[in-house]
Amino acid sequence: MAGIYIHIPFCRQKCHYCNFYSLASLKYADFFIEALLQEIALRKAYLSDEEIHTIYLGGGTPSLLSADSLNRIADVIHAHYLVHPDAEITLEANPDDISKDYLHQLRHTFINRLSIGIQSFFDEDLVYLHRVHTASQAHQAIQLAKKAGFDKLTIDLIYGIPGLTDEKWEANIAAFLDMDIHHLSAYALTVEPHTALAHLISKGTMQAVDEQQSANQFELLMQRMEAAGFIHYEISNFARPGHYSRHNSLYWTAGNYLGLGPSAHSFNGYSRQWNVSNLKQYIEQIGQVESITEKEILTIEQRYDEYVMTSLRTSWGCDLEHIQNAFGTTYSDYCSKQAEKYIQSGHLTKLQNRYFLTFKGKLFADGIASELFMV
Ligand code: SF4
Repeated sequence: MAGIYIHIPFCRQKCHYCNFYSLASLKYADFFIEALLQEIALRKAYLSDEEIHTIYLGGGTPSLLSADSLNRIADVIHAHYLVHPDAEITLEANPDDISKDYLHQLRHTFINRLSIGIQSFFDEDLVYLHRVHTASQAHQAIQLAKKAGFDKLTIDLIYGIPGLTDEKWEANIAAFLDMDIHHLSAYALTVEPHTALAHLISKGTMQAVDEQQSANQFELLMQRMEAAGFIHYEISNFARPGHYSRHNSLYWTAGNYLGLGPSAHSFNGYSRQWNVSNLKQYIEQIGQVESITEKEILTIEQRYDEYVMTSLRTSWGCDLEHIQNAFGTTYSDYCSKQAEKYIQSGHLTKLQNRYFLTFKGKLFADGIASELFMV
């Protein structure tokens, strides 16, 4: 089982917190599509004819693409790859792009799942984040998507936004639960270096992010979602049974995937590749794929670290038997030894030779994983 990720490098405007590669202009959109179609064909060998079970159009803002462009992308993918008839095909969409007409057109493309970037149902949070949409557009987009028959639907929310009180965060969770959607991704607002948000906070123009507020709101989220019957299947993801994101699950279970488009990453078990984060270079040099791609062969230590980091964040846990089989006894012994103090402190629990983060441990997921790392 393998996947394809396609990075669409355009947005209407840059959100202040965003560090994904995208340009706030559609000037080169047509050239990009032509280059992307070439790249799809040129890189077909990367997945060695593995069947594709998930395709994810992310970005950037893929909902800026017309149905016609999506159909052209689908045609070229189907011409070069074996796509499972029941493949999950997700489009990230921003609420301001979603209209009845656009959804109707999408229903006639290969897209069968929508991921809508809601972030908050409060206008003041959307202003802080510099999102282009409003709270009322957020509500409307979800209703329209459901009406159009997109039953595979997920939304993103962000917590830890300055001004987002715990009451407002609870209201956002309640709004999600009222909508009867089966999947939620929720992220803590992080201030990435070199973003507009980092700059504005350092100038004192924007209020800084409070980590304790984020931690409290993450706890609230876990409590509310669990009470509502959702499975916390990855640290930032909640789903009802049978509604896990196939694409994200592929990343978390070390499946192979091919990333297409500027800045997209690929992984095939032993190496990681990433495309240049520069649209002009991508378009101009697409004919020589090597010149737009960098590659890193992962060492056994890196592969072990990667496994620990991703598996520990999931409800499947970090499997000692897998570590022993894939990396050897030195690694499984090391992992057990490092994990012991977190078992004692109640941050980890061990069941059937697998480590799982406890409720308390989930608040420190990255720190605990890094203590189990080899490198
Ligand atoms: S819409 Fe998404 S990709 Fe575009 S700037 Fe905002 S967060 Fe970044």
